[in-house]
Order: sequence, then C-alpha cells, then structure tokens
Amino acid sequence: METPIRIDSRFPNMGTTIFTVMSRLAAECGAVNLSQGFPDFQAEPALFDAMHRYMLAGRNQYAPMAGLPELRQAIVDKVAALYGTRFDVESEVTVTAGATQAIFTAVAAFVRPGDEVIVFEPVYDSYVPAIETVGGTAVYAQLQFPDYAPDWGQVARLITPKTRMIIVNSPHNPTGSLLTAADLDKLADLVRGTDIVILSDEVYEHILFDGERHASLCGHAELAPRSIVVSSFGKTYHITGWKIGYVVGPAALMAEFRKVHQFNVFTVHAPSQLALAEYMQDASRHLGLAAFYQEKRDFFRDLMATTPFRLLPCRGTYFQLASYAGLSDLPDRAFAEWMTREVGVAVIPVSVFYADGKDDRVVRFCFAKREETLIAAAERLRKAFVR
Ligand code: PMP
Ligand code: GLN
Repeated sequence: METPIRIDSRFPNMGTTIFTVMSRLAAECGAVNLSQGFPDFQAEPALFDAMHRYMLAGRNQYAPMAGLPELRQAIVDKVAALYGTRFDVESEVTVTAGATQAIFTAVAAFVRPGDEVIVFEPVYDSYVPAIETVGGTAVYAQLQFPDYAPDWGQVARLITPKTRMIIVNSPHNPTGSLLTAADLDKLADLVRGTDIVILSDEVYEHILFDGERHASLCGHAELAPRSIVVSSFGKTYHITGWKIGYVVGPAALMAEFRKVHQFNVFTVHAPSQLALAEYMQDASRHLGLAAFYQEKRDFFRDLMATTPFRLLPCRGTYFQLASYAGLSDLPDRAFAEWMTREVGVAVIPVSVFYADGKDDRVVRFCFAKREETLIAAAERLRKAFVR
C-alpha cells in the first residue's frame, strides 16, 4: 500500500539487526545456523508443564506492573544467595519483556537529549540505538582485540560532566570476555562522587568457564547502589523466545525505571512468570548451567581445532570468536555471508559491533547447539578449509 506521508525518517541510517539478517540468510541457504544466539535444544518439560498448569488454573490476567510477587521473590532470593545483596521485593525488582526491553527502558528512564553514555566496543547491538532514540550520544571505549579487556584509563578520559550512564556487559557478547572484581573496583573509583548510573547487562551471569566467578554489580557494595542490573531467563533456561527478564536496583532508580516501564510494556506475560518462579526453586538449574555450557564450549573448540580458524579465548557466554586471518582476504561481513552461502555455516561478523566498522577479521560462532549440529558445522568447515 502506498502512503501519502512524506517520511522524514528518525533513523535514516538504521539497518536491520545482524541477528535477523544472518538467521534469515542461514534459513534461505540451508546453512547450519551458528549466527544468532539461541539454543537448538529444548528446555525441560517441567517448565512447560508448569506454564500449562497455571494457564488451566486461570492465572491468565494482568500481573502487577512490576511483576508477579512469586517471581520477584524468587529473583530476590537468587540474587541474595549468589551475590549477597538482598533487594526489596516490592520496590527493587521489576520483571521485563526480556533484557532488550529492560535495557531500552533503563536508557529511556535516565538519558536525556544531549547526555552522553559510555559503551564498550565491540558493543551489543541494541545499546546505541536505544541511546540515540532518546536523544543521547554514545561515547565509545574500546575492548582491545585479542583479549578484549577494558582500558580504565581510557574510560576516565571519556567521562565528562555530560556522562549520564555507563553500560557494561559481563560476560561479554560477542567476545566472551569477563569483567573481574578488580575491574569493578576501578569502575567504582571512576564514578565515585558523580551522578553516573551504571547499566549492567548480565544476561550471561550463569555462563562462565574454568571455575571463573561472575563479578556481578549486584554484589559490589559501592556500585550496586548506583546500578540497574539486567538479566534474562532466555539465556538461563533455554527459552529465548519467551522474552522474559528482569532488572534489580536501588528503589530510587527502580522508581524511575518503572515510570517508563508502566507505559511501555506495563506488565509481562503472567503464566510464564508463575512457571519461572516455580522452576527457579531448584537452584541446580542455574548453578549447573556453567558446566553444561563448558562441555559444549570444549566440544566445539576441539572440533574447531581441526580447522584452520584461530580460536580466541572464551571465558563466558555461549559465543566463540575465531580469527579467519590467513583463510580469506574478505572483510568480515562479506566473509560471513560467503560462509553462509558457500560453506553452509552461518556466523556473525564482529565488525557490526563497532561504530566505525573496525574489522579484525574475526567472526562469532554460537555453540548453544546440540552436538550433532556442531559436528555438522565442523564437517562443512573442514571440507571448505582443510585440504
Ligand atoms: N544483552 C546481551 C548481551 C545479549 O546477548 C542479549 C540477547 N542475546 C540481550 C541483551 C537480549 O536479551 P533478551 O533476549 O532477553 O531480550
Ligand atoms: N543476543 C542474541 C545474539 O547475540 C540475539 C538476540 C537478537 O536476535 N536480538 O545473538
């Protein structure tokens, strides 16, 4: 249908998210899809049984704006058990429609036109559009290839009186790097005495390898009182399509968050909140996730060792970066598309996570897959690259 409206686009340069682009291309080409991050295996039936039971029991009407009390209690208990901070069930936790909405809402609640928000490149693709939608400016710090550690000296130089927020993400997508307790102390030094809000994206909080412990901002005595911490059940319970997550933070920050949340989403799907509250009671389900994914990471890395890709360290998340330098002269985006079409394995080019398209000839593989999927991908890679 034609429209008579002459559109002056608010986002003339915004394309479609790379995850949609690559998953669509993978489907078109019949490629093994190791691009967009989602499991290709099922969650436990107990979770679905619980959801069904609550639906049949009539729990199908609006939940309270902040989330059902059963789920808020379960979240608060989990956070207290893991990180030692007990948030208030009434005023310091909000259930969201996934982490993406939580991040967008937090940015909208605190960032005004002209404010600056420091993000770290490579930066997860939803942060900057959220900042720009509300009229803020993204200011870029760098996580340097190949170890992707933050340079706090650089961050110090980027802080100005206009800095309203710093967004951190650990375990980090796409690099699999982690912030350590020492990193958090340095961040605390930098923001002390300022009104900078920290937005901490911790959706992979349960996926750390080799015995590493997650340094949650929830557990940092100085940072927690100025932070909104985001998590997502999609990652933890293999249900990315349910789109449920949550935020925790001090009451005064949460009150601002909810001012936006209530008129943006109002409230999240009720039966799944009840199912999740019940499912969370067994802590082994989230505590066992690291071992579960470490097995997959190690399995995938062993397979990849039979190909000429050079693997970068992977300390957390379900993503593995690999350098293809020496295998192809193509830029990473063209390489990812070529791999999808010609090799039959879809990956994510890492340059899309840089404002200037910085290209270190690195692509991201998602290993949240069944072993047979990973084996099929490795076979295709060997066929294409091993002579
Ligand atoms: N942040 C990061 C770092 C992610 O990787 C993702 C999704 N993969 C999200 C946020 C969004 O999570 P959700 O699907 O719950 O919106
Ligand atoms: N966060 C997932 C990834 O990094 C994808 C989520 C999405 O498609 N927006 O692959």
